[in-house]
Amino acid sequence: MHQQTLALHAGYEKDTQGTMAVPIYMSTAYEFRDSEHAANLFALKELGNIYTRLMNPTSAVFEKRFAELEGGVAAIATASGMSAIFSTIVNLCEVGDNILVANAVYGGTSTLTDHTIKRFGIETRKFDVANPSNLEELIDEDTKMILFESLSNPNLQVADFKTIVDIANKHNIITVVDNTVATPILCNPIKLGCDIVVHSTSKYTTGQGLALGGIIVDSATSGEKIKGNDRYSHFNEPDDSYHGLVYSDLPFPPFIMRILLSVLRDLGAAPSPFNSWLMIQGLETLTLRMKEHSASALKVAQYLESNEKVKKVNYPGLESDSNYTRAQQYLIGGNSGLLSFEVDSLETAKTIVDNIEIFSCVVNIGDSKSIITHPASTTHQQLSAQELEQSGIGAGLIRLSIGLENADDLIEALKKVL
Ligand code: PLP
Repeated sequence: MHQQTLALHAGYEKDTQGTMAVPIYMSTAYEFRDSEHAANLFALKELGNIYTRLMNPTSAVFEKRFAELEGGVAAIATASGMSAIFSTIVNLCEVGDNILVANAVYGGTSTLTDHTIKRFGIETRKFDVANPSNLEELIDEDTKMILFESLSNPNLQVADFKTIVDIANKHNIITVVDNTVATPILCNPIKLGCDIVVHSTSKYTTGQGLALGGIIVDSATSGEKIKGNDRYSHFNEPDDSYHGLVYSDLPFPPFIMRILLSVLRDLGAAPSPFNSWLMIQGLETLTLRMKEHSASALKVAQYLESNEKVKKVNYPGLESDSNYTRAQQYLIGGNSGLLSFEVDSLETAKTIVDNIEIFSCVVNIGDSKSIITHPASTTHQQLSAQELEQSGIGAGLIRLSIGLENADDLIEALKKVL
């Protein structure tokens, strides 16, 4: 079935009332038939609802629908994109391990991987996502995952999927792709050979800047990499915190089962059922919106490229962009709504941000309303000068998230301020 159809129907069977819209099940807990039923659910002899920190019928529809859109086997929704990324790292790593992280990632992912997880004894090693020539040298027996963004925020690098996946497969290491900016409509990391896909659903999925959320999608290949692999011994040995359960022996995907039974249980970063319901509303129009965001962003990028006050435009849909060839190879039907451009100085960047019409100065992306951001002073403020340079974020860089307004009006607003 096409994604446009799946986004409206997958994962939902109408309840006894025949409700067309997926109901919002606002309930913390679920009644067991009797004590034996309760014991069976806890022992995984039967599957069913226990408590909303672990599962919820509204969130379950969102999870099933999203898993189908990504071509995965299962998904777990989380409270935010950052909790999806942190849960994934915690699921794979422990003290003494290392992870390989792309040089160009969202600022929050940078601070998490460069600083916070260091305090958990996990080391981050960096590689160039567009030219991963040093990737294989960074791998050792303690390497647990390779993390990168399909289309990076904010400097729009398109990942060199083939090189990264080939190296990961050679060493039996799990790849984790943040597909937030591209969405499953424009990029399918699982089809490209990746194992786990994470998202901040706070962006294009909700689509109108309505709610925070995240999701982790599992593929069949992660289980194959985990089973019997010493690198992932904690999936292959008994878990003392779950009466000796061996995740790789379960008849379900081990990666996502451990997220559910151990990570969500202990960290508790579960989504509100209401937020999951908002995400379901967003998915219904995702296919149409991503086409429109992409078409308008291309028009705006072409205009900016023609303006002499603009030093450089980063948009993979432009033939002049160094990512163009990879975008043609790995993105389908558009390049998303995010673009960035450089002006001569911090002062000029500030003047543009402070005076532009229609665009709102907001630290978000993927809203139906257009957004302008100055990454060096906001989303990436906590990065050092060296880290900013490594991530390609200069003082004169401005990020635009192109919304669903008429592109000509957006171009007019930019023309005025430039
Ligand atoms: N990943 C990417 C690519 C992002 O752009 C963001 C937020 O901007 C996140 C993850 C974090 O998501 P959240 O804000 O939902 O925690």
